[in-house]
Order: sequence, then C-alpha cells, then structure tokens
Amino acid sequence: MATIAFKQVSKVYEGGVRAVDAIDLSIGEGEFCVLVGPSGCGKSTTLRMLAGLEEITSGTLELDARRVNDCTAKERDIAFVFQNYALYPHLTVQQNIAFGLDARRTHKSALAALLRGNSDAMRAESRAIDARVATVAQTLGLEPLLARYPRELSGGQRQRVAVGRAIARSPKVFLFDEPLSNLDARLRIETRSELRQLHRRLRATIVYVTHDQEEAMTLADRLVVMHQGRIQQNATPAACYDTPANRFVAGFIGTPQMNLIDGDLSVQHGELGFESHGFRMPLAAHWPSLSNASPQSIALGIRPDRLLLSGASAHALPATVQSIESLGDRTDLALQSAWGRLVLRATPESVAGVREGDAVHVTLAPSHAHLFEVGEVGARVPTARS
Ligand code: ADP
Repeated sequence: MATIAFKQVSKVYEGGVRAVDAIDLSIGEGEFCVLVGPSGCGKSTTLRMLAGLEEITSGTLELDARRVNDCTAKERDIAFVFQNYALYPHLTVQQNIAFGLDARRTHKSALAALLRGNSDAMRAESRAIDARVATVAQTLGLEPLLARYPRELSGGQRQRVAVGRAIARSPKVFLFDEPLSNLDARLRIETRSELRQLHRRLRATIVYVTHDQEEAMTLADRLVVMHQGRIQQNATPAACYDTPANRFVAGFIGTPQMNLIDGDLSVQHGELGFESHGFRMPLAAHWPSLSNASPQSIALGIRPDRLLLSGASAHALPATVQSIESLGDRTDLALQSAWGRLVLRATPESVAGVREGDAVHVTLAPSHAHLFEVGEVGARVPTARS
C-alpha cells in the first residue's frame, strides 16, 4: 500500500500538446481513486506518468513521500491492468498469474539458488509461487479455470485473470485503465462489483481511469473529474453530484444530464430571479452572495428529477411534451419550452396521463437549483448551505 502525490505535474507531448496541466492530487493509502472525464482530457497520460511509462515534463510525483520522477516503472512497484488484458496466449491461467512471480524468481533468488546448486531452495520457491497463485485464484474465483488458456475464457474471465496477475505480486499500487470497456453491459456491472469487493479485501491503493461517469460513481471513494488536462473537482461521488464545482462537472456527472439554461440574474422588487428568453422564475434567498447582485449573465442548472409538473401559474414554465421514455421504475419526459429542451424525470404514476404533444407546466424548487458563472467551466455560486 502506498500514498501518491502529484505536485504541479504537467505533461507536454512533442508537438506541444499540453495533455496534463499542473495537477495537484494526493491519494491516500488504501483509497480507490477514479479519474474520470471525456476522451482526451488527460486521464491516461496521468496514469501512465504514475506508472513510469511516460516522462513527466514538470512538477513532482511522490510515492510514499519519495520523489519518483526518475524511477523506472519496475522500481515503483506498481501493477497496471490495461483495457486489452495483455495475457500471454500460450500460457495457462495458472502460468499467466504466476508469470510476474516467476520472472522475479528467475532474476533474483532462483539464479542465486542455481549458482549455489541449491535445489531445495528452488523447490521451496516453486511451492511458494504455487501457494500464492492458489490464494489469488481463490480470491477471484478462478480455481476451476487454472488449466485453461486465454482463448478458452470469456472476456470477463480474462479480465479477472489479468487482475489476478496484478494482485499476485502484492504491489504497492494498482492502476486500471478502462479495464471494463471491452465487456458487455451485464458483465461490466458484475465485474464492477467484484472490483469493489476486491478492494475492500485487499485495502490496496487503486487509481482507476474511465470515461464512464456511472462506472466512476459506483467504484470511487474519491472522484477526480478532469477536463482539458486540469482537475475540475476532487471529491466524493456524492459531493460531485450534489455540489458540482462548476458547470462542466454539473453536466458531466449524472444521467440524464443536468438541465443547464443560459440566462440572466436580476433582483426585481427586492426578489432574486432568473430569466431566459422572456420567462422569469423567482429564486428564493438561497444564494446570499447574490442578494444585492447587479444584473448579470448566469446559467441555471436543475437535475431532471428536480423538475416538477405543475398547474398553470405565473411562475410555471409552459412546455410541450416532445417524447416520453418509459424505463420501468421511472419515466423521462423530453420537453420543449422557452428555455429550450428540458428533461424531466418522474415516477410512472405521476405522469400516467401525460401523452406526447401535451401542453404542460413546469416548476422547480429553488433549493434544488444550481447557479453557475458563465463559461464552460463557470464556477458554481455557493448557496447558503454549501
Ligand atoms: P484520455 O485518457 O483522457 O482520453 P489522454 O491522456 O490519452 O486522454 O490524452 C490527452 C491528450 O494528449 C489528448 O489531446 C491526446 O491526443 C494527447 N496525446 C496522448 N498521447 C499522445 C502522444 N503520445 N503524443 C502526442 N499527443 C498525445
């Protein structure tokens, strides 16, 4: 187990692409940290710098409070599980898992034992490796598969063998780069929960990369949301969801996406309100910093399950139901309104009588709304509670 610290770490590739831009990130011992963000945001580069597979352009990387910028991948004692498993096709499951251990033996003690002509020592080493593989196979439920070759395994089983090979060595840190992306949806969810259980058992430090925010939310102790080479938020999944640091995080975390509406904020007759395309909605006094604000551009964010159908009133936004998606335990309505397209998530019972093409009215509880400064990464305006 180990602690990890990135201090102002940047990576500029040849040709000038700044893939990672001065990130500061500390990961505690035994933590499951997930780097998440859209394709090209710098997640893999960050992971590869940590593994020692990519040179660090500037800044300091520490493992257990020791600078490791110039250490080789091997010296860092980190296990890496890639998306494409990288199993040896000509080796059985048993041999694949033992591979890292065997390689160590060949290089170190076995050679010494051989030189000393000490066959007892070699046999003891072999037994230790077999015992270690047996433990790993048991941990991952791979015992019935030990004699098989990779081509005789399903995608999920191969992935488990790759994880097995990584944990056999008891490394300080595990790195996973999109390890589930080649699995079908059902297997992805199964393997996800296996990974969580495995982490609980091993208490190992894990850094995991994915572009899938749902996968990230379910796995992480801590979520690091990246965009354009920068960390946008570093917090628990719940905090990223409930109090997104900025507009980017708000739009990226959560399905269906948060509704984000560009408009203007103003105080009229002593009351704070948000207006967009001619429709004004009052906002209660949840934003102390805005109580005396001069008119300004702002974005309003509201999650689909926080929009409500209501009767007609001066403060209810008129809308037309464009489409209805029934998902069994919930129903998503796509609405067209003066504020543009909005998605409203409801219980099936509450929208049982609603049909496509219907005229409806929508309200929101201001206590569940978010306000963001203008721009793609406009900061969230703090409320009285946060
Ligand atoms: P992610 O893993 O989030 O998809 P990457 O870390 O792979 O993102 O890439 C971040 C940025 O760096 C992208 O713009 C990508 O095109 C660029 N990049 C990645 N690898 C290289 C490379 N070897 N040479 C030049 N640019 C690269």
